[in-house]
Amino acid sequence: MGHIMAMIVTALLLTLPLAAALPSPDIDRPDRWFDDHIYHHHADLTTELQQLASDHPAYASMTSIGTSVRGRELWTMRITDPSYPAEGKARVYIDGEHHGNEYLGGELCILLIHKLLEGTDDPVVQQILRQSIVWITPMLNPDGNARDSRSNFNGIDLNRHYPFEFVPSGSHGDAPAVEPEVAANVAFMEDKDLDLYITMHTGIVRLIHPWSYSEEPPPDQAMYEALREMSEAYGVQYGQASTVLYVAAGTAKDYGYGALGAASFTYEVDDQQTRQISAREDIAVRLGDELDLLMEMLTVAPMMRAKLDAHGLTYSADPSGGLKVNVTLESPTLSPANNTTLPVEVYWGGSLVGNWSTVVDVPAGNTTGASVHLVLDEGDYILRTTVTYPKLLQENATSDELVLGNHEYTVTSSFAGGSGGWGVGLIILLIALGAALLYWAYRKDRWRPGWAYRKVMSLLRPAPGA
Ligand SMILES: [Zn+2]
Repeated sequence: MGHIMAMIVTALLLTLPLAAALPSPDIDRPDRWFDDHIYHHHADLTTELQQLASDHPAYASMTSIGTSVRGRELWTMRITDPSYPAEGKARVYIDGEHHGNEYLGGELCILLIHKLLEGTDDPVVQQILRQSIVWITPMLNPDGNARDSRSNFNGIDLNRHYPFEFVPSGSHGDAPAVEPEVAANVAFMEDKDLDLYITMHTGIVRLIHPWSYSEEPPPDQAMYEALREMSEAYGVQYGQASTVLYVAAGTAKDYGYGALGAASFTYEVDDQQTRQISAREDIAVRLGDELDLLMEMLTVAPMMRAKLDAHGLTYSADPSGGLKVNVTLESPTLSPANNTTLPVEVYWGGSLVGNWSTVVDVPAGNTTGASVHLVLDEGDYILRTTVTYPKLLQENATSDELVLGNHEYTVTSSFAGGSGGWGVGLIILLIALGAALLYWAYRKDRWRPGWAYRKVMSLLRPAPGA
């Protein structure tokens, strides 16, 4: 008996440290997955990203945006070309594996990280890294990845758990953004002023845009529609999530667009989620077209939201009185700049004394003239002209302001504004009337010396016999 007890104690001592270090098999993925797997687990991902970050210290930095229920780090790689200033760059966020068993969505994120860091001879990669900052979180639900499950460790579907059009239920949770994975993603995304957000899934091949929660078209339907051709050229079906997939509440994509005003997409890659493949190289081959389309999406990221260029700013006296401020507004992107305001602030002696403005719509990729009409009293003024426009039509999208110029302007009398106005107009009118009168008199043969004298005298002394 003593011998058997010793064996049992030894066995317990041997297994205890192991049990403490590794999650038990009934919670996480069965052991066979660890021995012979193709898709990344959290441990593989951690070492691979650490290696990539240390190989490319100038371009890449690796951080954790939070931890899963089971304490796994949510790794994010930030990639950009540091020789171009961060100011003015497009801001792009991509995440994968909200659904822990949709491995190929996460694999596409990892392929993209390799492409951006190891393909820097490629002019397309160079362009993307010059013009944008790209953050990539390949595995948002590492506990689900370990257990081969869609939901997180608490049984919540993380892609129904966002604080936009959230609907409580058993699998959605009682309140949004309570689960640590979504809370971390929301905290990370909310202050990034993102131009583009793409969230990766697997099961069908589709690139889909908001809304998911409603079959109503999104306010920026025209911008989303402008990308259809690009997607379909890669054989990827394109459209609104609620119509080409299904209606779903509280999704990450609707949050990115609806709450943050970023152009947002769900990218469903590969239609054979559960098929096992034999080699790492196969993943790159299998997702080749999907990666190419993703690279194109990144290339056009700076075009997703409205931008305006302004030229030809002029200040001119208006013939009807006052002053006209004219400018030409040009949209170089896929989004119309609707409800663009052109305010002219008028300062006198350093204080704001008036504000005139107009509102115009600038169609995507088009040019529109805008003018503001001001009436000012006598004085020396500074006119400050700006343009303000929403980056997307979605009401929570941020706005941008361009300062067009500060212009000194003097009004010499309240009657004659600036360099003209009514005064000059009246003088011209009087001269013209005088000239017409003289011409009329000449034609009537009455313009002779003494004609006016004789005329007046004839009126005073009526002709005989009258
Ligand atoms: Zn999914």
